[in-house]
Amino acid sequence: MKEGKKLYVSAIKNGTVIDHIPSESLFKVINILSLDKIEEQITFGTNLDSKKQGKKAIIKISNTFFKEDDINKIALIAPDAKLNIIKNYKVVEKWKVKVPEKIIGIVKCFNPKCITNHEIITTHFTCLSDKPITLKCLYCEKITEQENIKMV
Ligand code: ZN
Repeated sequence: MKEGKKLYVSAIKNGTVIDHIPSESLFKVINILSLDKIEEQITFGTNLDSKKQGKKAIIKISNTFFKEDDINKIALIAPDAKLNIIKNYKVVEKWKVKVPEKIIGIVKCFNPKCITNHEIITTHFTCLSDKPITLKCLYCEKITEQENIKMV
């Protein structure tokens, strides 16, 4: 590895680092977590080389710690994302995101006839499997699979 290639974005003192986001999903992650509404310092890098994924993105959010339920929503679009919790420049906790059991209002139902695609109703799915992601709609009971996931 070349010198200097490892430090993608400057270190943060306290906060959350989200790593291993597919580059093409970076802005969706920003959206899902409503990072545009956070007033703390946020830095991100994208199109970074990753052995596992091709190109990856990383986000560092100062002084912000997410609830596990909130952050797990990003597993729908960044299933390999990893979180590092930083306190005083040290990683004190690490975890991998996990698709939540219930997904409310993030994903569109794949069934064009589903009521949620015709009326203003919050979508609601149960996760049947997370590899590959398989979601069952509460309203029409049809399955939305990973490759068909579209955000609301
Ligand atoms: Zn449906």
